[in-house]
Amino acid sequence: MDGEDDGVLRVVVLFPELLGTYGDAGNGLVLAQRARRRGTECELVSVGLHDPLPDADIYLLGGGEDGPQRLACDLLARSSFAERIGDGVHVVAVCAGLQLLGHSFCVEGDDEYAGLGVVDVVTRRGTTRSVGEMAVDVDGRLLVGFENHGGRTTLGAGVPPLGKMVHGRGNDGAVDGFRTGSIWATYAHGPVLAMNPWFCDEVLSSVLGRTLEPLHGAADLLYAQRCAVLSPRSRA
Ligand code: GLN
Repeated sequence: MDGEDDGVLRVVVLFPELLGTYGDAGNGLVLAQRARRRGTECELVSVGLHDPLPDADIYLLGGGEDGPQRLACDLLARSSFAERIGDGVHVVAVCAGLQLLGHSFCVEGDDEYAGLGVVDVVTRRGTTRSVGEMAVDVDGRLLVGFENHGGRTTLGAGVPPLGKMVHGRGNDGAVDGFRTGSIWATYAHGPVLAMNPWFCDEVLSSVLGRTLEPLHGAADLLYAQRCAVLSPRSRA
């Protein structure tokens, strides 16, 4: 952990009132719970519209509709969020959260809106909405979830995607999200950290700076079942 010195992991969910349409605030609950089960004390904080930006070891951004996405972006632009990202704080961003980290995103009426510009990506409006199950190959492991968005995201030359699409659209039908520095970004709702225990632990391990002992539970079983349903053989 680098954002604190009291041994307490601080997980901060940003504006769940605005970026909570798809249940992504659940990512905070899952991350905190999996940390606690490893014996790490954890503080889970939700940031409201009028709250100052608190210190964090990790910030979580969820998905939302166009209007709330714009407002969240404005609020973050007026805070020290970009500076904190520059300092290396960890971030998991989903869909609207992913889009607002880029240079620009399109909102209702195709208007282009300035993002925070902390990652070299742009999001334009697609001709159709991308709605449904998605699966992404992340270095040989499947990340599963569902998507519901109108944006098509283009990554800058130096920005690696999170993974390759196996099913669904993600950024553009070929790849999903991005993975730069201490930021993980994906189009997958679910919440994605609940549906993909391995992914939650990868993030947690990076934030805590240590290898984690495995946990086994219902989440692993549900994950295995979803992977089986999405595997090419069972879809043939
Ligand atoms: N408003 C954005 C879009 O439609 C993001 C939607 C979302 O977060 N699911 O592209």
